[in-house]
Amino acid sequence: MEEEKRIGVYVCWCGTNIAKMVDVVDVAKEIGKLPNVVIAKDYKYMCSDPGQELIIKDIKEHNLDRVVVSACSPRIHELTFRKALQNAGLNPYMFEMANIREQVSWVHTDRGEATRKAKSLVAAAVNRITWHESLDKRTVDINPATMIIGGGIAGISAALEIGNSGRKIFLIEKENKLGGHLAGVDLTFPYMYSADQILKPLIKQVTNNPNIEVFLNTQIDEVFGYVGNFETKITPGDGKEVELKFGNVIVASGLKPYDPGGIENYGYGKLPNVITSLEFEQMLKKGKIVTKEGAEPKNVAIIHCVGSRNKDYHEYCSRICCMTALKFSNQLRSALPDTNIFECYADIRSFGKGCEEFYAQTSRKDIMFLMFDQKNDLPRIRKAETMDECDMLIEFNELLSGEDIEVPADMVVLMVALEAQENARDIAHAVGVSMCGNEFYIERHPKLDPVATTTDGVYVVGGCQSPKDIPDSISQARAAAARILATINIGQVEVEVTTAVVNEDICCGCQTCVNVCPYTAISFDEEKGVSVVNEVLCKGCGTCGSTCPTGAIRSRHFTDKQILSQIEGLMSTSIELQEV
Ligand code: SF4
Ligand code: SF4
Ligand code: SF4
Repeated sequence: MEEEKRIGVYVCWCGTNIAKMVDVVDVAKEIGKLPNVVIAKDYKYMCSDPGQELIIKDIKEHNLDRVVVSACSPRIHELTFRKALQNAGLNPYMFEMANIREQVSWVHTDRGEATRKAKSLVAAAVNRITWHESLDKRTVDINPATMIIGGGIAGISAALEIGNSGRKIFLIEKENKLGGHLAGVDLTFPYMYSADQILKPLIKQVTNNPNIEVFLNTQIDEVFGYVGNFETKITPGDGKEVELKFGNVIVASGLKPYDPGGIENYGYGKLPNVITSLEFEQMLKKGKIVTKEGAEPKNVAIIHCVGSRNKDYHEYCSRICCMTALKFSNQLRSALPDTNIFECYADIRSFGKGCEEFYAQTSRKDIMFLMFDQKNDLPRIRKAETMDECDMLIEFNELLSGEDIEVPADMVVLMVALEAQENARDIAHAVGVSMCGNEFYIERHPKLDPVATTTDGVYVVGGCQSPKDIPDSISQARAAAARILATINIGQVEVEVTTAVVNEDICCGCQTCVNVCPYTAISFDEEKGVSVVNEVLCKGCGTCGSTCPTGAIRSRHFTDKQILSQIEGLMSTSIELQEV
């Protein structure tokens, strides 16, 4: 006879987020009638402290042995509730979450239908949880060294944070010096601090820190191992091969400027006085703003969003170009008081501390702001017919006035987009992180876990994740460093327990699983003729189990019994509940 289970079910309102579309009181009432359900309650905010306390109290008072919470996506609060179970003395895996927010209240418009669907999903979760088994936590020891890929401001900041705590750092930089893009910047917005005065002392601290070993002219090809125990071989610029062992990795490989040569309208590469923002920055750094002919420009136009915010190039906003453009106007106004300055923009995006104020101050400096249609009608730059007045003319329809205009220019500065590094894919492959369509690295969760990745022990910070300014890059770097220091101090780290396991008796040795595992967690034991899962590397993604022709691979916590009973619950109990 099947053993009796004692299940507690909690239906969350999420304020009005769920309750406005789902009759949560009715869901709890109907689910309470299902076999094995001891109590079923609705509550305003399950993830709040009182919500978690409610679960803990009920587990103790009603001797519950498993818990279902129907609320938001498990990606958001599964860990919160697992911890609550743990605090009540229950195995955290005796928990199941039904998503009635993203999958129900947010995507339906009929309250009756939404409530019926919510009941089905919760009933399916109840059916599934009856087959849950306790799983034990597993931990691995941590090698206290950390490898950082990228010696720009993010990499340097992370290295100093960890190095100053007395822990070993291997700082890998592909160029022949530290500093990244910031090394090429003159002043920084919005407070006009000198980039050199920010960067140079930090580089000095890095080179003087005995815990930080810097490898210049060095690339990472492959990283082996898993959280706590990674290793790689590097060959620093012509030098000898070195083997490095480390417990964590921070990828801070930055980004690169977009080449505007592909945008025909702007004539970059053909018109000598059309230059990129980086080239203009170099001019500012040298303290000499001159055209290719060596003359001071009488008219300078700065064109925003070059390669950004346009689906033909990059659809995303590069985040720092608007503020950099305003910084250029300020520097131009100081250096060349009589020069006409034109900011040709699509939108001014001035979020961030001090930035809106900086925009307001800049707009009072006799600078002409002209708006163009970035999506449909990019400005066109052409050589002026007569060189008496100016070198070039920029034509576009100015959106605020509605007029077709011609802007004179002796120098045009293109605020180029920032895009992923050329070797972004190689690094992603080496350390096992995912990339979005723009080849920026994907964080574990954009809001709740913005510097970790789905590969334990590998963090992504700064521009390699998406374009960022200096404060955001430093904040991310220090956040990753703090996470790593916390695990180093504990000495051990928990690893995934919902892993795959091979039944050697029915494995036919076809090696299909070896080839499909995205985390290279499966190897082939030649002697036994069977596949073996490295449980530290396995992420429990289930890919191998679904491709194994003999059914030899079982995924813990996602057994056939659990999945089939969930589907069964969805099909049968939903009909029963509709009839109740
Ligand atoms: Fe909202 Fe999820 Fe918290 Fe419930 S548990 S209140 S659904 S965020
Ligand atoms: Fe690899 Fe995923 Fe199978 Fe684990 S469950 S061994 S990560 S394919
Ligand atoms: Fe064995 Fe299945 Fe892997 Fe083939 S796919 S080697 S049968 S575990």
